[in-house]
Amino acid sequence: MKKHNFYAGPSILPEFTIKNTAEAVTNFAGTGLSVMEVSHRSKEFVAVMDEAQALFKELLNIPEGYEVLFLGGGASTQFCMVPFNLMKKKAAYLNTGSWAAKAQKEGKHFGEVVEVASSKDANYNYIPKDYKVPADADYFHITTNNTIYGTEIKEDLEVGVPLVADMSSDIFSRPIDVSKYALIYGGAQKNLAPAGVTFVIVKKDLLGKVDRDIPTMLDYRTHIDKGSMFNTPPVLPVYAALQTLIWLKEQGGVEGMHKKNIEKAGLLYDEIDRNKLFKGTVASKEDRSLMNVCFVMNEEYAELEKEFFEFASERGMIGIKGHRSVGGFRASTYNALPLESVKALVETMQEFEKKH
Ligand code: PMP
Repeated sequence: MKKHNFYAGPSILPEFTIKNTAEAVTNFAGTGLSVMEVSHRSKEFVAVMDEAQALFKELLNIPEGYEVLFLGGGASTQFCMVPFNLMKKKAAYLNTGSWAAKAQKEGKHFGEVVEVASSKDANYNYIPKDYKVPADADYFHITTNNTIYGTEIKEDLEVGVPLVADMSSDIFSRPIDVSKYALIYGGAQKNLAPAGVTFVIVKKDLLGKVDRDIPTMLDYRTHIDKGSMFNTPPVLPVYAALQTLIWLKEQGGVEGMHKKNIEKAGLLYDEIDRNKLFKGTVASKEDRSLMNVCFVMNEEYAELEKEFFEFASERGMIGIKGHRSVGGFRASTYNALPLESVKALVETMQEFEKKH
């Protein structure tokens, strides 16, 4: 039976990425060796790193003055690297979910943290809009896509202070104007590569402005100076990331992806809104994520939750359980998820409705 992979992360990657990476595990770039057993300083691997950085810049149309880094440590390490490198005294945070809150918590190690707004009181089911960012904040931190709650900030905000964004779960899903951001980071394990590599896009002239001593590994300038090769980079995930970037370009880049993502998420949200058994969890439609579609059973059908989960599992739907803090269901519709999988889930929901 065909499996439809709706996991939230790690999650579905393009077949192109999986196939080429599998090949490189046994024979990398014609060396007869595995990509896992050659020096990261070999000319073959240096070419991979260079091409991955160049394609990353090309696909997101990254202007001059920014660097792209591939680091270890996950997005969670960026929660502390950002304030370490950018916070002089004070930073502002928008609390739109538990990842946003975790980032905010780490900021407190380095200075004053101002939470400009929070949707925690409503279990993060909306994106706060009415807030003021203090003009003297060193930066404003947002989480553009809230993986657990299925909300997304889809426009590039302008707030008058440097904007920092965790884009772990929506990078490359839509066009962004990088010039509006000071720094963008994320774990790769949703739209890009297997877990293990973290991407950072950083505006170079914002660095070197803090007084504190920064440990070498946590200083962005170290990794800029050494082209992400100060220490051994996660070679296999970087190789896989390059394959995904090549695939993305063939698919029409972020514009092409965006069109497909609107179609996929739209199909699913339409069914959730139409089907009498289900309802969406995000309060306002404009906040609905294109990447993580969250829904629950309608109150009168609450007792059918377990039965629907089993019904869908029997039809090949994998990874649709909602995060434990939200419950219900979450279908992640990342770039690599084919339209066909969304159609299969919609049909499953319709079949289940007919049964009840
Ligand atoms: N931010 C967001 C939005 C996430 O979804 C996640 C992980 N799912 C993280 C941060 C944490 O990433 P990592 O596990 O790479 O530290």
